[in-house]
Amino acid sequence: MQLSVPTLLVVDLYILTLVGVLMCFAWYRGRREPTLGYMSAALLLGALSTFLGSLRNLGIDYVPIVISNAMLFLCYAMVWMSMRVFAGRPPHWPGLVAGAVLWAALCLWPAFYGSLPARILLSSLLTIAYCLLAAGELWRSRHSLEVSLRPILILLFLHIGVYAVRLLLDRDLPYAPAPEGGITFFAFLIFETLLFAIGLAFATLAMVKERAELKFRSAALSDPLTGAGNRRAFMDSGERLLRMCAERGEPAALLLCDLDNFKQLNDAYGHPAGDQALVEFSRITASRMRRKDVFARIGGEEFACLLPEAGAEGAYQVAERVRREFAELPFIAEGQLSVSIGIATTREAGHDLPNLLALADQALYAAKAKGRNRIELAASGPSADRRARE
Ligand code: GH3
Ligand code: MG
Ligand code: MG
Repeated sequence: MQLSVPTLLVVDLYILTLVGVLMCFAWYRGRREPTLGYMSAALLLGALSTFLGSLRNLGIDYVPIVISNAMLFLCYAMVWMSMRVFAGRPPHWPGLVAGAVLWAALCLWPAFYGSLPARILLSSLLTIAYCLLAAGELWRSRHSLEVSLRPILILLFLHIGVYAVRLLLDRDLPYAPAPEGGITFFAFLIFETLLFAIGLAFATLAMVKERAELKFRSAALSDPLTGAGNRRAFMDSGERLLRMCAERGEPAALLLCDLDNFKQLNDAYGHPAGDQALVEFSRITASRMRRKDVFARIGGEEFACLLPEAGAEGAYQVAERVRREFAELPFIAEGQLSVSIGIATTREAGHDLPNLLALADQALYAAKAKGRNRIELAASGPSADRRARE
């Protein structure tokens, strides 16, 4: 196989510029995600470095040796920055220029400038260092990032591997003629770098897109005021949970909570105070939930909790804690906050969410009718008329 270095350089230059411009477009047209901005800068710097690197044997060797390589390390530093901002950390300005500055400074030293092995050594080490930093940023945040990092980590480590091999093996002059029927390491390197750049651009776009989708999905399923799930999330997760309970033959209970006289509270103390009460109720209730419970704000001042593996007794205890804690909350003036709760279980409603909601609503209605700040169990429950408060 023959890989001609000049042809590869032209292809490299063309592809890096094209992908860099497309990445810039994706950054500009999207939500100006800095990850894409840094990646676009990396690709365009890579293209510039390729161009400057090709200006050999023209009597301006300092351009391909000093400036082109300095651009290359800026390019790798931008890849690092792209991963760093993706992981939520601020850009590291000294680190961004460190590789380029170190290279330029060492090139002022004739012994280094004139030694190809020394230049290959430092160049490979800097490339490896920047790729390790990029991978490290993602690895450190692997638990919080919630997107698939495997493709980009594999790409980075393959590239690191290639440069580690170069450290040990590459002794060629960049434009040395290829051995008979073979290719120079330099030609292979340009080829590999091209594939790396395309893969990196694609994997970065995929990561950013995956995270944006997750964000939109979670926004579509949560209530912005309290952070709890919304009605759609409750219906989706609730149906799923009930199906699981039915399959396992386990009971479940539904708590339907409606804050009392909430309109009066708004009228007396203002809407922001009402909002604060909703946030506090959500906080109290969420703190009483287990991981497997489903809790959501399903209406203005209405909340629902679906408790798997819970019968009427267990559900009543949870409801009573919530009711009491909310009523005891120090809030503007004493006795302003209270909640009524209706409970229905799968025993009387079956494993059917609309049925559970309808029965819990009847129980809630009864709690309101009996004076509020109390809990009622659905009609056929074992202790339907049990009072929450004497
Ligand atoms: P009841 O005890 O019978 O439930 O009386 P209520 O006043 O709580 O019930 P009603 O349905 O008459 O009023 C509900 C009020 O909840 C009316 C509405 O302004 C208020 N509300 C709904 N959503 C929000 C919200 O996001 N923030 C605030 N501050 N108030 C809200
Ligand atoms: Mg209501
Ligand atoms: Mg109400």
